[in-house]
Amino acid sequence: MAKEGPPKILRLDESVVNRIAAGEVIQRPVSAVKELVENSLDALSTSINVVVKDGGLKLIQVCDDGHGIRYEDLPILCERHTTSKLSKYEDLQSIHSMGFRGEALASMTYVAHVTVTTITQGQLHGYRVSYRDGVMEHAPKACAAVKGTQIMVENLFFNMIARRKSLQNSSDDYTKIVDLLSRFAIHHINVSFSCRKHGTARADVHSVITSSRLDSIRSVYGVTVSSNLMKIEASDNDPSSSLFEMDGFITNSNYVAKKITMVLFINDRLVECSALKRAIEIIYAATLPRASKPFIYISIVLPTEHVDVNVHPTKREVSLLNQEVIIEKIQSVVESRLRNSNQAMAFQEQT
Ligand code: ADP
Ligand code: MG
Repeated sequence: MAKEGPPKILRLDESVVNRIAAGEVIQRPVSAVKELVENSLDALSTSINVVVKDGGLKLIQVCDDGHGIRYEDLPILCERHTTSKLSKYEDLQSIHSMGFRGEALASMTYVAHVTVTTITQGQLHGYRVSYRDGVMEHAPKACAAVKGTQIMVENLFFNMIARRKSLQNSSDDYTKIVDLLSRFAIHHINVSFSCRKHGTARADVHSVITSSRLDSIRSVYGVTVSSNLMKIEASDNDPSSSLFEMDGFITNSNYVAKKITMVLFINDRLVECSALKRAIEIIYAATLPRASKPFIYISIVLPTEHVDVNVHPTKREVSLLNQEVIIEKIQSVVESRLRNSNQAMAFQEQT
C-alpha cells in the first residue's frame, strides 16, 4: 500500500517530549510523593507533613521545615535538569542526596499544576509562585510563611487522559502513599512524618522523633510486628570481596502475616531489590515450619562508589557492586538468627 516510501520522520514538539518523559518519572501519585519527600529530606528537614486528596489526583501537599529555596533560584526551580545537588558527572560517585537529576519538579509541572511556597532563614517573608510546563506563571509573590517549603501538586495527570482514567479506577493510591510514608518514618527516625487525607484531622501515619528504631516501628507498624522482632547485623570489611555494613530487624516464628513486608534502605535511599527479597523469602520458607511471611527492615551502608543510583528513571532500584556476595551474607545471618530463635523457643516450650 505504501507506494510513497517510508513515512517521514518528524521532530517532536518539545512540550510533547517533556510530557512523555514526565510520565516516566512520575508514574503515579505515590511517585510524586516520594520525590517531594526526598527533596524535603535533602533540604535537611526535621518535620515532613503530607496531605492527600482523592488518592493524590486532586492534591498532594508536602510541607517541610527544611532550608527553603532562594528567591533568585525560583525562576529555574522547575526547569528540567536544574539541581543544587550535582554539578559534574563524577559527583554521582560520591552522592549522598536522594535527588541529583533535577527532573522531579520539572516533570510535575508538565503533568500537573505546581505551587511552591518557601522561605529561607533570616527572611521576613516567604514567596509563593505557581509553575506550568517548567516555567513560572507569574513573578513570585511575597507571602507569610513558616520555616521551610510547601509544595502543592494539583490535578495530577490532567493532560494524560488514559493515565488519569486508569488511576481513578484503582482506589489504592492513598494506601500506597501511607505505605511509603511508613517506610520513610521507620528509617529516618530523626525526622517526624505525618500523612493524612485532606479534610480529616486524623493522620494515618504519625511518627515522632526518637532514638529507638524499635519504638518507631512499634508506633508505625504496631505492636504485633514490633514485639516479634529480632535484631540482625552483618558486615564485611574485606576490600577484596565486598565492603558493607548491614543492620535491621526481622520477625521471628511467632509472627504471622499474609504477605512479606520488606523495607530496604541502601545508603539511606529507599529502594527495592527483588533478588534480596527472594533470597530472604527462601530462608523463611525453609527454616520456619509454617512458612510464615516476615516483616523485614534492612539498612545497608556501602561505599558510595559501589552503588549505581542511576539505573532506573524513578531511582526505585540501584545496582550494587558485589551484589551476590552481599545477598549471601545477609541470607546466612538471617538463617542463623532464625534457627537460634527457633531452638530457643522449642527449648522454652519443653521446659
Ligand atoms: P533534584 O532533587 O534531583 O535536584 P528536583 O526537581 O527534585 O531535582 O528539585 C530541584 C531543586 O529544587 C533541588 O536541587 C533543590 O535545590 C530544590 N528543592 C526542591 N524541593 C525542595 C525543598 N523541599 N526544600 C528545599 N529545596 C528544594
Ligand atoms: Mg528531587
